[in-house]
Amino acid sequence: MFEALGRWRRRRALAALSIPDALWQEAVDALPLLRVYDDGELAKLRELTVLFLDGKGIVGAQGHEVTPLQRVLIAVQACVLVLYRDLRWYDGFENIVVYPGEFVPRWEWQDEAGVVHRNDEPLAGEAMEHGPVVLSWPDVAAAADWETAGMNLVIHEFAHKIDMRDGDANGCPPLPPDLSADEWKAKLTAAWDDFAARVDAGEDTAIDPYAAHSPGEFFAVLSEVFFADPLALRAEYAGVYRLFTTFYGQDLAARLAADARRGVAEPRRFVVK
Ligand SMILES: [Zn+2]
Repeated sequence: MFEALGRWRRRRALAALSIPDALWQEAVDALPLLRVYDDGELAKLRELTVLFLDGKGIVGAQGHEVTPLQRVLIAVQACVLVLYRDLRWYDGFENIVVYPGEFVPRWEWQDEAGVVHRNDEPLAGEAMEHGPVVLSWPDVAAAADWETAGMNLVIHEFAHKIDMRDGDANGCPPLPPDLSADEWKAKLTAAWDDFAARVDAGEDTAIDPYAAHSPGEFFAVLSEVFFADPLALRAEYAGVYRLFTTFYGQDLAARLAADARRGVAEPRRFVVK
């Protein structure tokens, strides 16, 4: 019964809320990380993007007006993570809030001595457990040019959301049955220890040193690298890369390496304004 209802809802959403061809093409052209996917995968991604937008609100804050292109750019990057998994990984929250720039969340928390602390640091993005994903638009836009920015805010925050499905963003999300939790924890922890030591030693790392902050940040930052520069992640931490190929159901480095062997030219880059 529920399955039939789900199928009906899905068909209705796909029929009613399609993305116009020109808008879809503009979004695809703006995101170099989508170049690795073939036409069939892009069609599936477009369908997931429609369903994502059917289920979630993407709303502006502090006067930011979310354009149709911005909505699609945010949604499609969120859907890349679940292309071979399940859109239901994003159940349990409804909104993505977009700010015109970095924002100060002003969370308060109490330490063990009962002293209340407040965060006044501006953030580019935030994923709240059971709550919205919050994004600064300029930081989302910067990710279109990975080579310069070296970050992908949407992938980062949605990786945290996936990690939070079983509570804290601790680098250990609920795993598909084909992955062992012991192996995941052992390999991720060893790689994080190694990375943190390299950062502590002052090494100029290919991966954003922010990943050394905690196992949760390590998982989110390495997820960015997995999708935006998979060959770099495979070169840096091959064991983690292999686990991620199973976790996300995609082996993008193998494809890129095969394309390079066949001499497939890189399409030109686009930058979102
Ligand atoms: Zn983070």
